[in-house]
Amino acid sequence: MNVPGKVYFKYGVMGSSKSFDLIRAEFNYRERGMDTFVLTQASDTRNRKVVKSRIGVSVDAYAVTDSDNIYDIVRRKMDEEKKQLRVVFVDEIHFFTPEQIDQLTDVSDYLFLPVICYGLRSDFKSRMFPGSKRLLEVADEIEEIKAMCECGRKATFNARFVNGRPALGGKQIQVGDQEYKSFCRKCYKKLYRDIRES
Ligand SMILES: [Zn+2]
Repeated sequence: MNVPGKVYFKYGVMGSSKSFDLIRAEFNYRERGMDTFVLTQASDTRNRKVVKSRIGVSVDAYAVTDSDNIYDIVRRKMDEEKKQLRVVFVDEIHFFTPEQIDQLTDVSDYLFLPVICYGLRSDFKSRMFPGSKRLLEVADEIEEIKAMCECGRKATFNARFVNGRPALGGKQIQVGDQEYKSFCRKCYKKLYRDIRES
């Protein structure tokens, strides 16, 4: 049964319950007695060791840094724990480097595991994250986790708020999602037009 596992990219805007979806899917594997491995990014300062959903559930995760080789990490996990891993989950995939995305495809092709990745497609300036772009190029399956704009249309854009006001400046990678809201394209344009004019 040594066939490559598929690489999945489940993307969605801020607040589209991506982490909750991951936690639910991971639980389904464990409920059936299958070993899982959950990865997330350590690039932020919070030293995240869990994937946490706003809904209040969480799962333990291994925090990866920019310089880590993910293929090596997964292989070591399989060797050390003599576990028969059945799946790898990755949260906050937009924080990973394009090289790490390629390493995840090696996990699929040479370790024969499905790799299920969750994250944002684009930042609050509506530009694609480098890791997300790479994943869109190489994933086997791409799925959008949908969320709704306050106007009722589908939300596909993330806007950043500082002190309750929409903000255009700043780095691509900012920590925490409490300062972000998702909008449809039209409402996103209006939001930023309003702050340019004010
Ligand atoms: Zn809207």
